[in-house]
Amino acid sequence: MEQMDLQSILLPGIDPKRPIVIAGPCSAESEEQVMDTARELASKGIKIFRAGIWKPRTKPGGFEGIGVIGLPWMKRVKEETGMYVATEVATKDHVFEALKAGIDILWIGARTAANPFAVQEIADALKGVDIPVLIKNPVNPDLELWIGAFQRLYGAGIKRLGAIHRGFSSYDKKIYRNLPLWHIPIELRRRMPNLPIFCDPSHIGGKRELIAPLCQQAMDLNFDGLIIESHRDPDAAWSDASQQITPDVLDYVLNLLVIRDSTQTTENLSELRKQIDGIDEQLLELLAKRMRVSREIGVYKKEHNMPVLQSPRYSEILEKRSNMGKQMDLNPEFIKEMLKEIHEESVRQQMIVMNEK
Ligand code: PEP
Ligand code: MN
Repeated sequence: MEQMDLQSILLPGIDPKRPIVIAGPCSAESEEQVMDTARELASKGIKIFRAGIWKPRTKPGGFEGIGVIGLPWMKRVKEETGMYVATEVATKDHVFEALKAGIDILWIGARTAANPFAVQEIADALKGVDIPVLIKNPVNPDLELWIGAFQRLYGAGIKRLGAIHRGFSSYDKKIYRNLPLWHIPIELRRRMPNLPIFCDPSHIGGKRELIAPLCQQAMDLNFDGLIIESHRDPDAAWSDASQQITPDVLDYVLNLLVIRDSTQTTENLSELRKQIDGIDEQLLELLAKRMRVSREIGVYKKEHNMPVLQSPRYSEILEKRSNMGKQMDLNPEFIKEMLKEIHEESVRQQMIVMNEK
């Protein structure tokens, strides 16, 4: 993967300083809605306009996109505002229509990215075409599937690739519409260091008020760009109304962002990093010690014919430790998750002891 000769996603005239912003409505609805929104966005300095022409909807019966009649509106946006235009493609027909209409950037949606046949079909339809393609993460948190989609496009000769992190579906919805699971795009960055990564706070948050904090988080994690849904009249939007913001609000949110310098590493930082290295070493030593004790308990249980798993003890540990963590200013949920992992490994170790002859 590292040997992929990925070129910058940047288009001529797009300032490479972070964040590169793509903005526009979830869906193109009418020529007026597209043009009004585009003009307002252009007046705020936005250089890349997004609008969904074909909309993948979870259930039938909703608004499934305006279809090809919306493509000339995108062309008009280009001509009248000078912005680049981007839309989602999910089939080879979408690709042909979008290319014919002069769309500048394509993106593959989260549902499509989860289907290797569909991604391959798009890749095949793009053979010999030099166009930037952004790939959203698949709806399920499967990094390999996401990377596989890049490999399919790259294999078709597409070199201007970029990723969009839009969060992952989950059954129990809490704060977010789609869980951010930041470690997945972070790992993607490690595996494909030259790939530009955009954050889509609109689809992660699902609510207007989450857009600003999510954008800041993405900037703090050194993402390259943002793709944000913006509509001239969000409440009247035909899709994703609750997460769209006006161009005015978008401008306000972008102006509030604190963009940290990603290149500077000061003396102070290297000093702190040394401390982290030392602490990690101590953590590993403690973990090794904990596993040793755990195996000794395994020996005891075996000699006394006791089962490995003692649920009341386990629940008690989780409760007590997460309370203890809370008093130390640690996130109790994080402590529980970490202890679950450690406990799982302890059980594995004890099973090994149990099965020794
Ligand atoms: C969209 O960008 O409007 C969209 C449909 O997003 P996703 O594929 O992330 O659900
Ligand atoms: Mn949307």
